Amino acid sequence: MRVIVVGSGIAGIAAAIRMAVKGHQVSVFESNSFPGGKLSSFSQDGYRFDMGPSLFTMPMYVDRLFELAGKNPAEHFKYNRLEVICRYFWEDKTELTAFDDIEKFKSNVAQNLQIDPVVISDMLADSKRKYELTGRTFLEQSLHKLGTWWDKDVLKALLTLYKLDIFKTMHTVNTRILKHPKLVQFYNRFATYNGSDPYRTSGLLTIIPYLEQGFGAYIPKGGMNSITDSLVELATSLGVEFHFNQRVDEITIADKKAFGVRIAENHYPAELVICNMDVFFAYDRLLPGQKQPKRILKQEKSSSALIFYWGIKKVFPQLDLHNIFFSDNYKTEFKHIAEGRVYHDPTVYVNITSKYVPEDAPEGCENWFTMINVPYNQGQDWDAIISKARKDVLGKLSRILEVDIAALIETEEILDPRTIESKTHSHLGALYGTASNHRMAAFLRHPNFSSGIRGLYFCGGSVHPGGGIPLCLLSAEITDHLIQNDYTS
Ligand SMILES: Cc1cc2nc3c(=O)[nH]c(=O)nc-3n(C[C@H](O)[C@H](O)[C@H](O)COP(=O)(O)OP(=O)(O)OC[C@H]3O[C@@H](n4cnc5c(N)ncnc54)[C@H](O)[C@@H]3O)c2cc1C
Repeated sequence: MRVIVVGSGIAGIAAAIRMAVKGHQVSVFESNSFPGGKLSSFSQDGYRFDMGPSLFTMPMYVDRLFELAGKNPAEHFKYNRLEVICRYFWEDKTELTAFDDIEKFKSNVAQNLQIDPVVISDMLADSKRKYELTGRTFLEQSLHKLGTWWDKDVLKALLTLYKLDIFKTMHTVNTRILKHPKLVQFYNRFATYNGSDPYRTSGLLTIIPYLEQGFGAYIPKGGMNSITDSLVELATSLGVEFHFNQRVDEITIADKKAFGVRIAENHYPAELVICNMDVFFAYDRLLPGQKQPKRILKQEKSSSALIFYWGIKKVFPQLDLHNIFFSDNYKTEFKHIAEGRVYHDPTVYVNITSKYVPEDAPEGCENWFTMINVPYNQGQDWDAIISKARKDVLGKLSRILEVDIAALIETEEILDPRTIESKTHSHLGALYGTASNHRMAAFLRHPNFSSGIRGLYFCGGSVHPGGGIPLCLLSAEITDHLIQNDYTS
């Protein structure tokens, strides 16, 4: 069959690979001049910066694509497991180091927070238990097909729902287990991995720590962008054709069946269309005459980000690849985000790939990806917000690191919710599509298929199972399985 993929985000590329492996003829149309969407990079004044994602977990989902194509992943995509996942800093000089080795992490916590290591064991056991009960059910299958619910494992997961803290908040669960406010803050931060608010999102999301502390965190050789590069290379080797600078204007439908896409005056026919565009814009711009799933499209959006990409003229030995400088009042920070505002003392995340990829910065310098969580775009005065936040962030980093950071900045670029939207067509600049703050969020995302239009499927961060690289790769896998079922039965 002829398959068209709209968009070359990570899920679009993965879907294209899966379709090519099945022997279909695949074309990907991408409006940018480059692939990867949020997972791309740029260079400036001798520095290379990953544009969006910096934390890489669950690399096996990338490996799986090479294996499906009959290739040895290690020959095409190389990555290392991090010994230090992240360093954490507070203004009162408290520090924590999240070692990959859990015993080392427990000793670090015991030493710095005087906490019994058994508390960490309890936390991770709880996280692992929840993941094992629900991971396959909620993340690896369509929740919108009746067949899913007749699976033995799914029924078992449903029977244990009451043990999953779904109706409590993540903060409540973390407080119950961890007690110490700094450790609660440490584990509350995992809510931001899908753009959620720990004070509102479901306690079920306490599975996220296990994904990082159980399965590890990784750095691809060459930085995050090499995930995109290696998968585009794989897709191309399988015959997938990429067409850049080609914005799809319409998914063409006749008799409730997709039959291709239109770009300006040209029609490209296909039997299957897989849409990797943000589902909100897909309905709004590509499917305007079709029935709109209004309830789904009206859902709250995930948070967005404000990023300062800084080339810094100094090396900071006390920092690692991932570094968090915590806000003193986490609850207020999230309250501000929920109200569409930015707190004056935000948690600052500094990612420095040049720690592991020295070519990413000139000698004696570092490439800082400096990010704070901000609300999605609601028409705020972003220029004023950026100028104030820049001062607040620089002040905080300078105080904690005891050096004037502003004086070390050699080059700068800025990304905000408006530019995230314009560069990747993500509705309102949300990083992860729909927010996961609603307790039933897992069930409320758009399915990976269209219930009214045959031959139309969806993958990517705005649909089931959600945003972030691992889940986007799973969305392509679910789509692949749905197509397999729909076209062989
Ligand atoms: C700042 C930031 C930090 C992040 N941090 C992390 C992290 O640390 N770890 C993690 O796992 N995830 C992270 N994420 C989230 C992750 O990047 C996304 O969930 C994921 O990359 C989204 O992939 P996607 O497949 O949904 O496509 P997207 O990346 O959203 O790309 C969609 C593509 O479709 C193209 N397109 C849209 N409409 C059309 C059209 N009409 N015609 C043709 N092409 C079109 C766009 O140009 C774009 O290239 C982060 C995101 C951002 C922005």
